[in-house]
Amino acid sequence: MRLTFLGTGAAMPTGDRFQTGLLLESGEDRLLVDCGSGVLHGLARTPVGYEGVDTVLLSHHHLDHVSDLPVLMKARWLAGETDLTIAGPPGTRELVEGLLDVHEYMQDRLDLTLREVDPGAFTLSGFDVAAMETRHSMYCLAYRFTPAAVEDGATDDAVPTVTFSADTEAFEELVAFADGSAVFVHDCSFPDEVDVDNHPTPSILGETLTAADADLGRVYLTHRYPHTDGRHEEMLDSLGEHYDGDVRFASDGLSVDVS
Ligand SMILES: [Zn+2]
Ligand SMILES: [Zn+2]
Repeated sequence: MRLTFLGTGAAMPTGDRFQTGLLLESGEDRLLVDCGSGVLHGLARTPVGYEGVDTVLLSHHHLDHVSDLPVLMKARWLAGETDLTIAGPPGTRELVEGLLDVHEYMQDRLDLTLREVDPGAFTLSGFDVAAMETRHSMYCLAYRFTPAAVEDGATDDAVPTVTFSADTEAFEELVAFADGSAVFVHDCSFPDEVDVDNHPTPSILGETLTAADADLGRVYLTHRYPHTDGRHEEMLDSLGEHYDGDVRFASDGLSVDVS
């Protein structure tokens, strides 16, 4: 399974990072997770492109996770693609229908499948997905992904697993949800001195990672506000005072083989 960070920024653009988007690939199966501003450019920079992704899964409906949805719909239509599946938490149908109400000329351009998902397990675009509610200012789901095709007959510890925290405070149940993941992508929006709800700081994330005592491969930090610019070393040091695992910052375009 391959994970590509299309956008590692948040709601305040910096010029260096697109908003949130991840691309998962396993064989011919592809899944776009979140679709914030700039993510279509990020996708166009990959060999897959927006032509090659027909399914999007949303973590929640904040603008920095959904604002390129209409851009994706139009680009696929113009590229001659005929369909798109958009899945996400309850309200996803209303969100997309609302976008199409505003952009009326986009109605009926694509064969659109809208699907709402809840915490629990489901399969989407060749991936087995588990979902869990996060702690955020809007209803939001974290997701745990394994390729459906690999899982048949494979032993548990041989299944490549990626968990995406989406937007959330750090809490132990979420780290436990990621237990066994080769890659855990976690919100780390701000450095320590920013007093913030709904997102973690590095020291709180480090404390939580250790307290949960989960078996994790590498942790990638993402969803970075401008406040984090030039502060990477300091943030990793702060996190590392509480957690001794492998932690790195994600960056736009970074592509990781997950095995
Ligand atoms: Zn966000
Ligand atoms: Zn959010």
